[in-house]
Amino acid sequence: MSTIRSGAGGTRNISGTSNPLVELEGELADLHGKEAALVFTSGFVSNEASISTIAKLLPNCLIISDELNHASMIEGVRRSGAEKKIFRHNDVAHLERLLQAAGRERAKLIVFESVYSMDGDIAPIKAIVELAERYNAMTYIDEVHAVGMYGPRGGGITEREGLADRIDIIEGTLAKAFGTLGGYITGTSAVIDAVRSYAPGFIFTTALPPAIAAAATTSIRHLKRSQAERDAQQQQASRTKQILAAAGLPVMESATHIVPVLVGDPELCKMASDRLLGVHGIYIQPINYPTVPRGTERLRITPTPFHSDALIAQLQDALVETWDALGIPYGSAGRPAVAKTDRIIPLLVPKSGG
Ligand code: PLP
Repeated sequence: MSTIRSGAGGTRNISGTSNPLVELEGELADLHGKEAALVFTSGFVSNEASISTIAKLLPNCLIISDELNHASMIEGVRRSGAEKKIFRHNDVAHLERLLQAAGRERAKLIVFESVYSMDGDIAPIKAIVELAERYNAMTYIDEVHAVGMYGPRGGGITEREGLADRIDIIEGTLAKAFGTLGGYITGTSAVIDAVRSYAPGFIFTTALPPAIAAAATTSIRHLKRSQAERDAQQQQASRTKQILAAAGLPVMESATHIVPVLVGDPELCKMASDRLLGVHGIYIQPINYPTVPRGTERLRITPTPFHSDALIAQLQDALVETWDALGIPYGSAGRPAVAKTDRIIPLLVPKSGG
């Protein structure tokens, strides 16, 4: 009788490495056009373990980090023990000043995201890459909110913009568009081997189970070939933006599938979310301070390819009823306010999950 195990059975180095996991790493390296990939048990762990390990291994490394980076990246920066500088969100001029001040010779790691999930904005990746090349810095990008959803094969914004080969490390999750669990980094074999050999978050924990790895591989392969889901998501996201804006709801500007709707008050925001669930059976997260700056509290809507036109119409009616019932202001919201720098204090009060 053969036995089938549901768990990995051990850490990566002690019997936990399975064929499906190795196959998954090959699939991920190919997705981003990199030499190698390394899978972790979550996206959070991949950021925390990789950023801290890479920065520790580079002598006197300076980490230069976008002020709106996710809590998992902040943890990686903190655990590295390296000196850090924070640049204002997506502000390449500020980033350049920090790079200039550090000088060409010092080891530097720029860490940033492609899609920022609270505002739905996209980093100026090309400009950041050009600066990194000019000032001799390494680049680490979190594509958690883009993999599977952007790029002709789902390789994220870096694939869509033809920049993947100019970024040193591309990180992603298997738990959002790919629908399973786990996180990963991709890069050169040298970087991947360094993280494999030194990151406690990779070494001292049970590996991803083979069934999950196989499911992730199937999902990635499907999304490499199928554009239908990406097209449908973009179509339904822009339809949602149009329909809500036409109803006078304060839809905030967003360059992605993320649709933030401004409430501007934390209590009303929570009440709106409760009412949408209690009265209309629709679950939408309220996003309050410190995740977003005070006064920009919002509902965050993330349409999927499976949100039909009828569901979007139903959402519009529910939001209008909620806005009227609670007296929330209508009107155009424009661009989301750039977060104040006090948002980076929350090393101790991290951004809520993704
Ligand atoms: N990076 C970003 C930008 C996120 O929003 C999240 C949240 O899920 C993560 C990393 C962590 O990924 P995972 O959920 O796979 O741990």
